[in-house]
Amino acid sequence: MSHTILLVEDNENNRNLLKDILGFYGYEVAIAFDGQAGVTLARELLPDLILMDIQMPGMDGMTACKILKGDPVTSSLKIVALTSFAMQGDPEKFLAAGFDAYISKPLDTRELPVLLKQWLSNGEPS
Ligand SMILES: [Mg+2]
Repeated sequence: MSHTILLVEDNENNRNLLKDILGFYGYEVAIAFDGQAGVTLARELLPDLILMDIQMPGMDGMTACKILKGDPVTSSLKIVALTSFAMQGDPEKFLAAGFDAYISKPLDTRELPVLLKQWLSNGEPS
């Protein structure tokens, strides 16, 4: 059975890139365009992993993460923040919001599958 990954990202280019990579490696991909839709889909699908953009119109990634981590139904879902280069200096902020891990955009397309495997294989993303 393949893993399901929920991708929450408002930027079309990033979305398409990630969708292609995830699909290439055999993951089932669900997509939401903003935080609110991400929260709704996460509750519905209970995906194996959520890749969450931070800056999105409407509900942002920090808020969506806090909501999911604060709800017993979704609190155990693994959520990885997709951070922009400008935010790299502040990793504590993401961990404080409840994210299990974070990666910086632009994404390293060779490193990503390795990280995905890691995040999906054990309960403790690094
Ligand atoms: Mg964005």
